[in-house]
Amino acid sequence: MVIDSATAWTDCLEIIKQNVDEQNFSTWFKPIVPLRAEGDVLTIQVPSQFFFEWLEEHYVPVLRKAIHSVLGENGRLEYSVIVDSGNQRNPPLIVNYPNGAGTKRYNPNQQVNNGSNEEYSPFVLRTLNPANVNSKLNPNYSFDNFVEGDCNRLARSAGLAVAKKPGITSFNPLMLYGGVGVGKTHLVHSIGNEIKKNFPEKIVLYIDQNDFTSQFLNAVQNNKIQDFQSFYMKVDLLILDDVQFLAGREKTQEMFFHIFNQLHQSGKQIIMTSDCPPRDLKGFQERLLSRFKWGLTADLQEPDFETKLAIIHNKMESDGIEIPTEVAEYLAYSVDTNLRDMEGVLNSLIFHATLLKKQIDLDLAKEVLKNIVKEIQSDVSVDFIQKTVADYFKVELEAMKGKIKKREIVIPRQVAMYFCKRFTQLTLALIGENFGGRDHSTVIHALESVEDMMKTDANFKNSVEDLTKKLKMRMAS
Ligand code: ADP
Ligand code: MG
Repeated sequence: MVIDSATAWTDCLEIIKQNVDEQNFSTWFKPIVPLRAEGDVLTIQVPSQFFFEWLEEHYVPVLRKAIHSVLGENGRLEYSVIVDSGNQRNPPLIVNYPNGAGTKRYNPNQQVNNGSNEEYSPFVLRTLNPANVNSKLNPNYSFDNFVEGDCNRLARSAGLAVAKKPGITSFNPLMLYGGVGVGKTHLVHSIGNEIKKNFPEKIVLYIDQNDFTSQFLNAVQNNKIQDFQSFYMKVDLLILDDVQFLAGREKTQEMFFHIFNQLHQSGKQIIMTSDCPPRDLKGFQERLLSRFKWGLTADLQEPDFETKLAIIHNKMESDGIEIPTEVAEYLAYSVDTNLRDMEGVLNSLIFHATLLKKQIDLDLAKEVLKNIVKEIQSDVSVDFIQKTVADYFKVELEAMKGKIKKREIVIPRQVAMYFCKRFTQLTLALIGENFGGRDHSTVIHALESVEDMMKTDANFKNSVEDLTKKLKMRMAS
């Protein structure tokens, strides 16, 4: 049968059109260029390797149907893939399937064509110059300023191992998960920076899910999918931050699945972060989730007091600012929302210290805290609560803060603890500190006693309500 490629392909398109929707038809079939028809073989040119794989994965039955009805039962399809579209100095690089070097490729009859074809160059990607690729890494995040604690030890050492041998350890992909502000982003940037330092020839790319998705949607709209995909194929280390937001985004997941497979197969390192472990991710295709579990999954926990303290000192030191220990401790106790709020508080302190030339002390810290951490609305201090409660019950302030166990002292003490819990952001431990170094279980006991007494003793309840008014008046003023 003698048939020219354009006619053969036009006929195929007619059939394909009836089997796929318009959007997919124009995305995946319009860009295809028929190259030649020889015997039973039609060769088409597709714009990228990804394109070829997408067709292979999604459109085999449609293509088979079209090829068989146009070229007959023995009809076969071959792909000519533009791997790199080239530029003024470099010609385009093209590879052919099913003849691509070392690759198992599809043809509609499942016949593998092993014949060598000297017309085509071997499958070699011309390298991008790593120096020209914007890694989107934040140079301020490094292992040096990532404080180690029990909360992040596993994740940090996995990160270090990956940074020493990207793609080689079994930690591929490395999946880091944890709540807001536990240091996931900081840690993955540290890994990226370390790899760039140790392996300047490697192409490192950090991207958060949001940017990845919008780049992909853009590429779809502008028919640039092949560029998008071939760029990602060249990366040696891909960091995808906040992968949980890919939930429900089927097309983007699909694309990521392909990129993931390609990179993983060629020994490239993938690092991802998420706000929960892979098993709890909702809205993900099962096959993608199972990929996430291939390597190592490590969690980061909320930092404990010691780690927070170290983070505070570390940050202030790196900015050349001295922070008195009592201020650092106060912040480590008080900012118990998350480390991002802590960062805000510290930046504001640095601003006050450097630009306004203010002394960093407890008062400044409290003021800053009030402005940054919204939850901390009151400026009622432990001192003020203690004094107000002692006056109200007519007991000695020092006795109330001390160790005396007489009932007439113990009750005011418990009430004062109760208000500290209600009106300050202090932890139970720090409240205990303020009452003669008691531990947090004593404070818990105090809170329970006050609540019990309020239920059973109307007078006592009135007293607590009176005191509440007094303290609130102070807070409002
Ligand atoms: P996540 O991505 O988990 O939400 P980030 O990495 O954005 O958290 O961390 C929030 C803030 O806390 C950043 O300023 C980061 O530098 C800081 N931080 C978190 N963990 C550490 C740590 N272990 N050492 C030093 N700074 C940390
Ligand atoms: Mg983050």
